[in-house]
Amino acid sequence: MELRCRGVTGTPLTEEDLPDLFRIIADAVVHLGIPTPQHIRAAFRYCVGVDVGLDEAEGLTGYSLFDLTLAASRGKGWRRVLQAVSTETAHDEKSGAKLEFRLEDLAGLGEAADWGRELARDLADWRGGKLPWSEVDRGVLVAGPPGTGKTTFAKALANSCGVNLVAASLAQWQAAGHLGDLLKAMRRSFAEAKKKAPCILFIDEFDAVGDRATARGDNALYIIEKINGLLECLDGIDGREGVVVVGACNHPNLIDPALLRPGRLERTVRIPLPDAAAREQILKWHLNGCLSGEPIRDIADRMEGCSGADIEKLVRDAKRIARRNGRALYLDDLTVLLPQRIQFDPEDLRRMAVHEAGHAVVHAAVGDGEIVRLSIYPDYVPSRSRGEAGALSIRIMKPKCSTRKDHEAQLMVHMAGLAAEELIFGAFSDGGGGVPQSDLAFATQLATEMEASVGLGDSLVQLLNCGSSRVPDLLLRDRVLRRRVEETLEKAFEGARTILVEKGATHQALVEALLERHDLQGSEVLEIISGAKQHYRTAV
Ligand code: ADP
Ligand code: ZN
Repeated sequence: MELRCRGVTGTPLTEEDLPDLFRIIADAVVHLGIPTPQHIRAAFRYCVGVDVGLDEAEGLTGYSLFDLTLAASRGKGWRRVLQAVSTETAHDEKSGAKLEFRLEDLAGLGEAADWGRELARDLADWRGGKLPWSEVDRGVLVAGPPGTGKTTFAKALANSCGVNLVAASLAQWQAAGHLGDLLKAMRRSFAEAKKKAPCILFIDEFDAVGDRATARGDNALYIIEKINGLLECLDGIDGREGVVVVGACNHPNLIDPALLRPGRLERTVRIPLPDAAAREQILKWHLNGCLSGEPIRDIADRMEGCSGADIEKLVRDAKRIARRNGRALYLDDLTVLLPQRIQFDPEDLRRMAVHEAGHAVVHAAVGDGEIVRLSIYPDYVPSRSRGEAGALSIRIMKPKCSTRKDHEAQLMVHMAGLAAEELIFGAFSDGGGGVPQSDLAFATQLATEMEASVGLGDSLVQLLNCGSSRVPDLLLRDRVLRRRVEETLEKAFEGARTILVEKGATHQALVEALLERHDLQGSEVLEIISGAKQHYRTAV
């Protein structure tokens, strides 16, 4: 009888696939059939505590063990997960997409892909006896917005390294509710990974683990024990040889720093939202040969702010339209589904240009690092969560020891957008705050760290670590600290304002350039700032 065990690669194994030595020394070879709907129902009941209908379970019998494990572990609502798994797998099988995709097949993974390629080389050397395990990276934290391909990265990484993938998630471990069950589930995943070593152990929603420093109230003991349990698993008595842990999360700053120390998830790599070129590649990947030769670049351009998952959904929805009409896919099927864009009013656009140009002028005067790009986004996508109106991109050339003056300069750059708005319009808008990536959020974090982390304020006491998520909590409780932070921010605001008054003509020239072009390269910004380019008309 055939051993129908579809692994990560989706390849059914037969008895002939077993090495001769195994067959000779084994007491018996047990043939496992493919799981029945009843098996799948029982597994879902056991792992996530939910009842999957018989029909749905039936529909899942053909899928790989890896996809089923993911479905049972994502913690995003089991019906949604089942639907996502079904559609994706069906899509893969219908379109003939390879399940063995590797890192080099995917676009938009940024530094995560670079890290993965290095790991693949190190793992190969380790397996070849050329490198001791102590030289191989033990783990990585992949951080990025939802749908940017963190899970996809883990699959590709395992394929590129030629090793097994074991999928788990904090939500799955926590599903049982009780601390004892959680710790058992956690240890089970690590034991499974060790058994399957060499392997990648993928842990989704890693930020749900929490931070012992912020654990309060009734839940504190649960969080502390959970983190201690995970630390034990990560350290392992034998150093978990052959198991590389990949954690995925949206908010790395919520994670207890002890989990991110060397030997554990010692490196954090970010997967950003894809840029235009990456979006085009991702679109091509999901189109899988359809619409080849058609101008899909336009579609990719118009999906600014969208994730890989948004692109995949667009293609899936467009293919459904074509299918319902009984015809091949047209470019228009994609175009009609593109997210709605709303043009900003001219006054708002000018305000954005004033704001972003303000950041650039103050950065050029006192900031550290090279300006790479300066942009405003003339229209916005309601479905886009970022709600950003523009951006100044900086490349830091090399790290340096920063003094109070450097921190103050950095604060002035953060405050410069609002200072420029006030200078030109008499008052600033609410666009500088309100979200975790806002100017005010960054400035508040930095100013608090000056006072309470790095000894560059009025006190030498270290109350929190840099990057800590405890800043708002601390400011709410400590009024003296809050007053000091306020003074620092006000001083930075005034500093930025003074620079902008001095460099009024340059600021105005940049504003006009931004309104005309929306997107300027670093070299163009520098030309305007240095006065080499002065042909832009002056503002009214
Ligand atoms: P995350 O784990 O970051 O939430 P996933 O890896 O689950 O995101 O991605 C969701 C879907 O989006 C995947 O099924 C995949 O098809 C698609 N996707 C995301 N990023 C990419 C990418 N870089 N290339 C191709 N597909 C992608
Ligand atoms: Zn700003």
